[in-house]
Amino acid sequence: MKYKIALIKGDGIGPEQSDATLKVLSAIRECLGIDFEILDVEAGDACLERRGVALPEDTIEVLKNSHACLKGPVGESAAEVIVRLRMMFDLYANVRPAKSLPNVPALRPDIDLIIVRENTEGLYKGYEYELDDAAIAIRIITKKGCERIARYAFELARRRKKLVAVHKANVMKITCGLFARTCREFSKKYPDIEYSEMYVDAAAMNLIRKPHEFDVIVTTNMFGDILSDEAAQVVGSLGLAPAANIGDNFAIFEPVHGCAPDIAGKNIANPTSMILSSAMMFDWLGTKYDDKRCREAARIIEKAVEMVLRRGILTPDLGGNATTDQFGSAVAAAVRDFAGKT
Ligand code: ATP
Repeated sequence: MKYKIALIKGDGIGPEQSDATLKVLSAIRECLGIDFEILDVEAGDACLERRGVALPEDTIEVLKNSHACLKGPVGESAAEVIVRLRMMFDLYANVRPAKSLPNVPALRPDIDLIIVRENTEGLYKGYEYELDDAAIAIRIITKKGCERIARYAFELARRRKKLVAVHKANVMKITCGLFARTCREFSKKYPDIEYSEMYVDAAAMNLIRKPHEFDVIVTTNMFGDILSDEAAQVVGSLGLAPAANIGDNFAIFEPVHGCAPDIAGKNIANPTSMILSSAMMFDWLGTKYDDKRCREAARIIEKAVEMVLRRGILTPDLGGNATTDQFGSAVAAAVRDFAGKT
């Protein structure tokens, strides 16, 4: 089968990260024989400036006809691009792993957690109004939205061991109440999973105090957005943090961070977040299309990143002086090494 992978390079450091990731994808194609085609499409600030629209119809059309999308960060137009795409393709699960990696100054060496964030509801739905002197935002939480994110998180936790539902139901009794109640109901269907609940303020504190005790975290949209940036920093750098936006039929993989205009164009951005996003993409393709080689590709990319970090090849955000380009080439070389041995 030939996979069609749409690539949005994005703004700021996005194109540099994409080019480094493409080196890794070439090594995967070469060594594992996975047949895929990269379809370069535009979206974001540069596209808005050039064409007057941040997310053009032809880009949407290509995404609709592809198997998955790999996306670099976009700038100010993020709401018009990724937030719209999440709603359009109903990508309800935002999956954000945070793991300690070799040679990286993390808070602890034994962190391995995954944040599962509801991706289509809550305060990010965009229902905001002005009424006289007041500004009003509406928080939408539905039973269906809670059920599908809870199901996703419990299924994921099945391959691990613990799940904590993070909310603030003591204050937002109705919206967070529905979310908490639904997660609690699901916990009864998954008696093998150690289930608990935590208020979001306690979760923010515990991510610093004892991050190693977390396994899978399930939470609502805005809480998940905030906690995942925190978790990324706890394991060393936003530049390491990959993410997946997953729906029933389509998925988009992208770094957690923004387009980092402060370091764009300098060849110093850490491309790990996008390289590991591509690993998440292969893992998802492997499961969806029951393709062993894709699952293998995901594992090899993860191992290759760890190997390169272990060798001390680090970008400046991690205290090293490797360029984005050099890091990408080193991971591609490590992929070739690993693939040769499997
Ligand atoms: P957004 O609101 O769009 O998520 P932001 O305001 O949180 O964006 P980012 O663009 O995510 O900002 O950047 C935050 C900080 O992290 C910046 O100092 C940036 O340089 C740094 N940073 C982000 N990504 C990387 C990366 N891949 N490599 C190195 N540093 C990064």
